[in-house]
Amino acid sequence: MADAPMIDFAHLPHPAPVPSATRDQALADPGFGSLFTDHMVTIAFDPEHGWHDAKLCPRAPIPLDPAAAVLHYAQEIFEGMKAYRWEDETVALFRPLENARRLNASARRMAMPELPEELFMESLRLLIETDRDWMPTAEGSSLYLRPFMFATEAFLGVRPAREYLYCLIASPVGSYFKSGVKPVDVWVSRDHTRAAPGGTGAAKTGGNYAASLNPLAVGVENGCQQTVFLDAIEKKWVEELSGMNLFFVFKDGSAITPPLTGTILPGITRDSLIQMLREEGLQVREEPYSIDQWHADAEKGDLVENFACGTAAVVTPIGSVNGPDGKFVIGDGGTGQLTQKLRDQLLGIQMGTAPDPHGWVVKLD
Ligand SMILES: *Cc1c(COP(=O)(O)O)cnc(C)c1O
Repeated sequence: MADAPMIDFAHLPHPAPVPSATRDQALADPGFGSLFTDHMVTIAFDPEHGWHDAKLCPRAPIPLDPAAAVLHYAQEIFEGMKAYRWEDETVALFRPLENARRLNASARRMAMPELPEELFMESLRLLIETDRDWMPTAEGSSLYLRPFMFATEAFLGVRPAREYLYCLIASPVGSYFKSGVKPVDVWVSRDHTRAAPGGTGAAKTGGNYAASLNPLAVGVENGCQQTVFLDAIEKKWVEELSGMNLFFVFKDGSAITPPLTGTILPGITRDSLIQMLREEGLQVREEPYSIDQWHADAEKGDLVENFACGTAAVVTPIGSVNGPDGKFVIGDGGTGQLTQKLRDQLLGIQMGTAPDPHGWVVKLD
């Protein structure tokens, strides 16, 4: 896919963008995911033309035939990433090629066409450049980018669709959790699982999220902010949250994160934190960790810190673990030192205030 020829993007600027005073007022407190910029990028696919009709245009509803395959069989994938505006006005992305590659890994699993990496990158550059004034400046804020692709073909038979649309929208965001870095309480789902072996757990596809919403709501009913999913077979091994990976940090200077065996989403934050923890001198093991061990280690005080991670919420400490059979607290229920340090370090790299020894940051010029 890498050598596909670059196609030209048509530029259709918004005839009536949001006035700058209204925009700046909205940017003062953007929240998460409900404020959108003026433009979007779309690229169409069909077997005859390949990827074609690429354009940057006003963000607007997308006309869709009611028989469009995505509405019936959920052929849809997405990515989530952020663009950061530095003090010196540099705009930076964090490991964006990893998102391009993961989008294509998801595409293969969902029988969808791969998008050439350079088209993905160009879509990011174009939208960010055009909507640059939408980048929030407040501490901890960024421009959340949502690339996604879905089946548009009007056909009710069951087979991979022939027509798709890739789309990129952008949303200025503050912190994901209203509480900022306060520890979250998690609910362990015993009745529902998110992904099974051989299923789509490693693909970033809407269906995994659809499956997680009811258990997420159960967690919220029980006073928690997030739900933890266990493996589908033994209902014993801790996997991840609906949109974040998990890390367990022990007193003896080691850490565990569940292994990528196909039921867990390979988070780019997860991968970055494995490397950062190793540089901190921790021994990181990617190995299965059971709910019973989690409970026992927390009670004994062997488990000292616990956090979830992902692009949206960065590094989020876990305060307590709750379920039908009770509750246990992690450490003293507060934010662990290492958790805070990793969060600060990662944000520092992303915001250009800390060294970037791995070359993870890609500056937009
Ligand atoms: C996106 C996602 C993550 C986090 O991935 P990052 O690349 O770190 O943002 C974790 N779990 C699930 C299920 C996800 O969809």
